[in-house]
Amino acid sequence: MMTMRFGLGYDCHTFGADRPLRLGGVEIPNSKGLTGHSDGDALAHAVIDALLGATALGDIGQLFPDDDPQWEGADSMVLLADVRNRVTASGYAVVNIDATIITEAPRLAPYTAVMRDCLAEALEVPVSAVSVKAKTNEKMDAVGRGEGLQVFAIASVQATGTAR
Ligand code: MG
Repeated sequence: MMTMRFGLGYDCHTFGADRPLRLGGVEIPNSKGLTGHSDGDALAHAVIDALLGATALGDIGQLFPDDDPQWEGADSMVLLADVRNRVTASGYAVVNIDATIITEAPRLAPYTAVMRDCLAEALEVPVSAVSVKAKTNEKMDAVGRGEGLQVFAIASVQATGTAR
């Protein structure tokens, strides 16, 4: 019987950085980008933590510490590809990803298809294995006031026979 495992990822970043808004490796027109030590790509970060959770390989902060100058301004999609390699090396294959981005603005629906393409390419899975959804927080709380955004992600992986 094939062993399936599941992992949960969450991330949040505040708006305010004077740089592009990048989610899932996709640059999205917006007046402000997301703060953070790397490029602030909260979607990539949530997917990374979901994959690390599914394989019990730690978390993003352990692998890429935010006080390490090596990761300053890092391309989070490169980090995601690195994590995909760690998942593979530990004996698991990525089965699917599902993510929900919660932000009041900008409207992300026009960009979710290309986010899926970018994530699928980094993870070396078919685009049909990657889901990205976007919604608002109905104007509630800090996210509703546009102070930042949140991402939830879940990943499933399957043992390839060499799992340890
Ligand atoms: Mg983050």
